[in-house]
Amino acid sequence: MESAELEYAVIADAYEKIEATTKRLEMTDLLVDLLKKTPKNVIAKVVYLTQGKLYPDFVGVEIGVAEKLAIKALARASGIRQNVIEEDLQKTGDIGETAQKLLAKKKQTTFFQKTLTVQHVYATLDKMAKTTGSGAVDSKMALLAGLLSDASPREAKYIMRTVTSKLRLGIADMTVLDALAIAYGGGKENRELIERAYNISSDLGRVANVVAEKGLEGIKKFQVMVFEPIRPMLAERLSSPEEILDKLSGKCVAEYKYDGERVQAHKKGNDIELYSRRMERISDQYPDAVELVRNNVNAEEAILEAECVAVDVETGELLPFQELMHRRRKYGVNEAMQQYPVSLFMFDALYVDGKDLTLDAYPSRRNLLQKTVKENDRVKAAKQIKTGNVKELEEFFEEAIEAGCEGLICKSVGADSVYQAGARGWMWIKYKRDYKSEMKDTVDLVVVGAFHGRGKRAGTYGALLLAAYNHEADTFETVTKLGTGFTDEDLKRLSEVLRNHIVPRKPSRVQSTLAADVWFEPKVVLEVLGAEITLSPIHVCALDSIRKGSGLAIRFPRFTGKYRTDKTAEDATTSTEVVEMYRNQLKQIGAA
Ligand code: ATP
Repeated sequence: MESAELEYAVIADAYEKIEATTKRLEMTDLLVDLLKKTPKNVIAKVVYLTQGKLYPDFVGVEIGVAEKLAIKALARASGIRQNVIEEDLQKTGDIGETAQKLLAKKKQTTFFQKTLTVQHVYATLDKMAKTTGSGAVDSKMALLAGLLSDASPREAKYIMRTVTSKLRLGIADMTVLDALAIAYGGGKENRELIERAYNISSDLGRVANVVAEKGLEGIKKFQVMVFEPIRPMLAERLSSPEEILDKLSGKCVAEYKYDGERVQAHKKGNDIELYSRRMERISDQYPDAVELVRNNVNAEEAILEAECVAVDVETGELLPFQELMHRRRKYGVNEAMQQYPVSLFMFDALYVDGKDLTLDAYPSRRNLLQKTVKENDRVKAAKQIKTGNVKELEEFFEEAIEAGCEGLICKSVGADSVYQAGARGWMWIKYKRDYKSEMKDTVDLVVVGAFHGRGKRAGTYGALLLAAYNHEADTFETVTKLGTGFTDEDLKRLSEVLRNHIVPRKPSRVQSTLAADVWFEPKVVLEVLGAEITLSPIHVCALDSIRKGSGLAIRFPRFTGKYRTDKTAEDATTSTEVVEMYRNQLKQIGAA
């Protein structure tokens, strides 16, 4: 195997150019250049680094160095006094820029400098990330100082940003996939195949490695693997059983939509991992669920999906999602487990004993699921009926609500009902109560900006600018200004959380005609209850799709108190969904 070296300067040069553009196509071209220059044996590392990571998210290793430590390391490497660095940082607000500037002044007098390679930078960052225990702070600082003393000013800029988690080149997963398709996959038209590999592995590095080493043929053979989470299949929504049956060719399987947390359970012998909807490892939060999978899954290897639901210890009844939130903690897990035990409702089988099931039709997956799961009062297959009858569907819906569920998920049983990893499609359609009765509905929106508060709110944010996600364009389109529903505690928590995502100007993926006082990287997702959706001359969500020149806006939004930390910005309500909701609302008004 070749093991060629790549100079870190090459990456730094590419970053600098990428940073200078806001156009996605140019960004892609620059990334293609970089990937072509990259020896194949380091391509995975380059892909991770470019997104400011060392591993795919599900591994859970973060570089996360505090700014203070980075300052100390810079002082040690350069001999520049700490207070000089801090003073400059006050001005620039960017530790990367400060490092570059101060080192540029200094470096003129240095004669020797070792060439930094990507492999060396990566290995050092990896060591830093994995250093724990007593003395960790000093060891990390020494490692970082070592890197900085060999770095050119420009390299130092990007190393500093990477270690403090501030790289933020704005390169989305989809841009990387485009670039891989162009660089190694024979063209952008093959992006779908590559995207599927990503959707079933959540690992852009492994995907990059396979395309680069083995081309499209390798990608076609790409397999699901235990302990690599599959990106979840998601449901569309409709508001009547008639429409649902219509869409699903007259018949479907309707299942309870349990109101808990989605869990993807991976099993290999006695080893179990649970992954959340956004593919983070959550096994430590749910030791009881881990045990349930260990004891009730009859397979050596399996990947199954379940809804994890809090249950009332006294009555065994299902409890709403809010109760499950008591289980989201790092400490006191055992106490919480006693107080808020969970049940698992299994709803899909994606892999069992060597067989990838993601391309099988749903009825056959369900069949295998039932064979694989040993049911008891804590583990069950999701309750379902097969029906083509409107009345039956409506009755089953009422029953589900009665049982403490949110409604139904109606699933296609056609030959093409494969598991659409990472996609929201019409194979699954959710039917929830709130779409039925009123024009009230919750949406999950991304915070992209804020306006300064006045009066009582002076010093914090008066209103937040929220956006829906446009999946086709990979952009965030503003849809409302949110100012109500916040408790004092919320305001405090929000300014703390949002502070980490402040960016100096409107991010290129954000579409807005409003000029916010502060802009954020699209990260934080909040649940919002709106009263009505209207055409809007100001907001740009689904611009032109209902009427030329108008977007859609959500009127009278209130924060429900739910921080959707289980969703990434790309999981937020989409602009297409807002359009769908707008249309439904019109129908209801028509019907009234
Ligand atoms: P919501 O915010 O309404 O929960 P979502 O965006 O998180 O929606 P959707 O695709 O809208 O996800 O709805 C599917 C979700 O419903 C799944 O992520 C899963 O957590 C949950 N669910 C509960 N029961 C089932 C079931 N029987 N089959 C599939 N998903 C189910």
